[in-house]
Amino acid sequence: MNELSELHRRAREIADLNGIGGLLLWDQNTMMPPGGADARADQFEALERIQHKNLTDPQLGRILDELEPWAASEDPDSDDVRLIAVLKRDHEKAVRVPTELAAEMSGASAHAQQSWLEAREKADFKPFAPALEHLLELQQRYIACFDDSGEFAHPYDILLDDYEPGLTTEELQGLFTHIQAELVPLVSAAAAAGEDGRVFPGHFPQERQHPFADELLRAVGYNGEHWRLDPSVHPFARSMAHTDVRLTTRWEPDDLAMAFYSCLHEFGHGLYEAQMSPAHYRTTLADAAGLGTHESQSRLWENLVGRGKPFSEWILPVMQRHFGHPFDAWDVNELYRSVNQVRLSLIRIEADETTYNLHIALRFELELALVEGRLSVADLPDAWDEATHRLLGLETPSVLEGVLQDIHWGTGMIGYFPTYTIGNLMAAQLWQALRTDLPDIDNSIAVGDFDPLREWLRDNIHRHGRKFDSRELLRRATGEELQVEPFLVYLEGKLLDAGLLTAPVRVPRT
Ligand code: ZN
Repeated sequence: MNELSELHRRAREIADLNGIGGLLLWDQNTMMPPGGADARADQFEALERIQHKNLTDPQLGRILDELEPWAASEDPDSDDVRLIAVLKRDHEKAVRVPTELAAEMSGASAHAQQSWLEAREKADFKPFAPALEHLLELQQRYIACFDDSGEFAHPYDILLDDYEPGLTTEELQGLFTHIQAELVPLVSAAAAAGEDGRVFPGHFPQERQHPFADELLRAVGYNGEHWRLDPSVHPFARSMAHTDVRLTTRWEPDDLAMAFYSCLHEFGHGLYEAQMSPAHYRTTLADAAGLGTHESQSRLWENLVGRGKPFSEWILPVMQRHFGHPFDAWDVNELYRSVNQVRLSLIRIEADETTYNLHIALRFELELALVEGRLSVADLPDAWDEATHRLLGLETPSVLEGVLQDIHWGTGMIGYFPTYTIGNLMAAQLWQALRTDLPDIDNSIAVGDFDPLREWLRDNIHRHGRKFDSRELLRRATGEELQVEPFLVYLEGKLLDAGLLTAPVRVPRT
């Protein structure tokens, strides 16, 4: 069919340009000298203009319309039918947004990142405030493009939809109320029993961390033919195709846990991209179901696998071989307990698994208030400090440990943070399902065999790419809707098992 091959041709170009955009972004955060920032902002803007033109092309709309009757007669789960649905969705959203606005948002984001860096250097929020105000104005103009769509109940839903299709403010408010109510008592009981200090005491020069990270990554599935690992300030993962996956980490000589767990986390993201079906290569389906699903994959490897007891059994001898002291005197229980300790802290990316979602609850609350116009940018730093006190019981000594700690708002990513919590919840549900399907999984992990786990994830999550949204994917993999309870049950169970809680705190909900 001519229309279908024309659709594939267009999808190829969009996918290839996405890959190029990924490369620009990877380079910006790993290799680019700081002076290249302005030129890079121009390049992102140019790319956004081309992509927006591709997606809004009326000819694309006509082809999609012409294919609709054919698609209605085919298997609704077939690749081509799903490709048509996904492209139609992208087209319909893009045509609502003027190309000028899309390009301006892209350029403004790149510039605001520079203001954020400058503000961080001065440890002062003020240099960042005008850029953030401008970004929020642009977001309001973006939201206004969907005013008459009749599809979104809340303005913030429009922003959420770009990161996690179909996620709503109302749903998040319910989830966060539930999580907060349950986590606060759990955190205070476990934090009281936990010790202070770093996860791994000691000094570990980069030259010794590197071979360790290499062995760890290769064991879980990193493949030098298709993957790279480079240093960056903020660890991240990006792929240009399923055959070209880039991970980054940060080598902190006094904090081995940084590289250890960020490598596992970013590996989880990378594996999702690497295990997408090759049949989806150069189509719009070669992308994640949603960022919640993406994060479920990184958190699953980092926390449910990496901080689990079977993994501790496997990795302890590896750590002893690479580092000797202090691990040669540790037993598995000490490692297991150490990597699960609960500490109230100011920095989200260093937060433990138990307190992490409180950091997200704080950001959700503040960005919702910004979008609803209940909070001004000028009042944001104080609001941050107040919420930190209320949710974590901590004082914020400086904006570096407060409102300026995350880059997200500085890149215009508003509505992104909640996907982290969605990921945590999904990971716990997937973990439950995969343990039922793979009764031997603990034994496999304990001997460093990660094949069954990788294959389960490929089969149930990765290969589908964007064929199904996160909800549908979760339903197909677990038979359930998104829930808070499995995450809380898992968390409390682990804290009890590791000896970080002496008695159950929660009354399970039914
Ligand atoms: Zn992540």
